Amino acid sequence: MLSPTSTATTTPAFRFDNSYARDLDGFYVRWKPAHAPAPQLAFFNRPLAEELGLDADALSGPEGAAVFSGNALPEGAEPLAQAYAGHQFGGFSPQLGDGRALLVGEVLDRAGRRRDIAFKGSGRTPFSRGGDGKAALGPMLREVLIGEAMHALGIPTTRALAVVETGEPVYRETALRGAVLTRVASSHLRVGTFQFYAARRELAKLRQLAEYAIARHDPDLAGSPTRYQALVERVVQRQAALIAQWMNVGFIHGVMNTDNMTLSGETIDYGPCAFMEAFDPKAVFSSIDSNGRYAYGNQPAIAQWNLARLAETLLPLMIEDAGGDDAEAADEVAERIVQEATAVIETFPRLFQAELLGGQRLKLGLAGIGVDKDPAEDAGDAALANDFLALMHAQSVDFTLGWRGLADAAAGDEAALRGLFADQDALSAWLARWRERCEREHAVPAEQRAVRMRRANPWIIPRNHRVEEALAAASGQGDLGPFERLLSALQNPFETRPELAAYAEPAPAAVTACYQTFCGT
Ligand code: AMP
Ligand code: MG
Repeated sequence: MLSPTSTATTTPAFRFDNSYARDLDGFYVRWKPAHAPAPQLAFFNRPLAEELGLDADALSGPEGAAVFSGNALPEGAEPLAQAYAGHQFGGFSPQLGDGRALLVGEVLDRAGRRRDIAFKGSGRTPFSRGGDGKAALGPMLREVLIGEAMHALGIPTTRALAVVETGEPVYRETALRGAVLTRVASSHLRVGTFQFYAARRELAKLRQLAEYAIARHDPDLAGSPTRYQALVERVVQRQAALIAQWMNVGFIHGVMNTDNMTLSGETIDYGPCAFMEAFDPKAVFSSIDSNGRYAYGNQPAIAQWNLARLAETLLPLMIEDAGGDDAEAADEVAERIVQEATAVIETFPRLFQAELLGGQRLKLGLAGIGVDKDPAEDAGDAALANDFLALMHAQSVDFTLGWRGLADAAAGDEAALRGLFADQDALSAWLARWRERCEREHAVPAEQRAVRMRRANPWIIPRNHRVEEALAAASGQGDLGPFERLLSALQNPFETRPELAAYAEPAPAAVTACYQTFCGT
């Protein structure tokens, strides 16, 4: 029986601590989400809710639908639309901002980490320009599938906490089911956030923003006289590690604009992204990327370009702090600071290569020798990995199955791997080199090496045709079954489970040849 003081009908508690709202007044507009006429939960991430210290039981039902549609904001929420700018496909837009998103607030999770809780698709804001501020169910479920797959693969990413169908259509080429995604992120600070203030020459605000970013992501740098240079170094390192991980699973982000690159090093904004099937460095799937700017093989160079844009925004602060009393000295200081910042950006290729090779070593079943310890061994291992990739490219081998087949080969079963290659001789020659290299890491029994390799070479990735099939069923008949089954298959990507074989198979070649992804608007 319910007691008169029952809290059963109140909104479940979030312990908000909203540093962005508190510390960055003037960097956002306070705004309310649009009302959803008939909200229904389509997805709720119970483990993530628990990680955030939320009441998962209460939020998994109608109260969750009310909260995650924006209809019933929990106490302490301070919804706001953040301002940011960005280079989109190389062209600068001085004002983008949250046009269909709102930061609801921040919580400290069970591990004490600060996490943003944000809506996407929650209606128009002052940054909406011509857009309707809304989102359709399909693209929001895509964020769930790809984000959770990335998380299960061990790749830093924003995550989906919930998706609510609003009960209201959104109009694109046709009427679609409207939805709101609740996204969790280490922060929503983007390269584009800094560009917004740099473009307006608002140096005091830029400094305030940089201090905020340091306090939030790199608090050990606070107070250092060269903290802005050091912040850039940290972001360069995090992005080098992130992009290397993308490359090692065949992930193509598709829209690496500077507003879609985080300071935290988390992957953000799963719009026209895709996983590669047959290995091809030129692979590009996004319908809006006609020049292949964001093709698979361009991602490291684009990341470096974006990071240079971040460093540029901070140059005036670095120069100001380095001083120089008279005009002549100031010129010299400026020149030196620019050189130093350029040098930081130029470390990206080396850092990226080291991260990439570290990951490739694990994929190859090599673990004994650390990166940078023996240059000759580094060069040899990089060549071994590159030659395997070249073989897969030449013979149009599925990237995921190629690497996974190598793990079986380590355990002595070459059948799966051999089945993927038309030219057996080329494969045999490469396998002989690989075996010879593995033998130099004696003391690793074959089966143990295979087990280790299976932890670095996923069996299941979100195959494009499976993702499309799941989204089509949800968007069409409202059937969430295929989405739920795919999501469940993606949770343990490194385990071979024969009952899930259908999710491990590549799409028919004809499907892949025509596959295109569209921006999730
Ligand atoms: P995205 O391509 O999702 O990274 O978004 C780029 C910019 O366009 C951001 O400023 C978004 O807020 C804005 N935007 C995207 N879709 C919409 C929409 N349906 N309504 C309003 N703004 C949008
Ligand atoms: Mg974006």
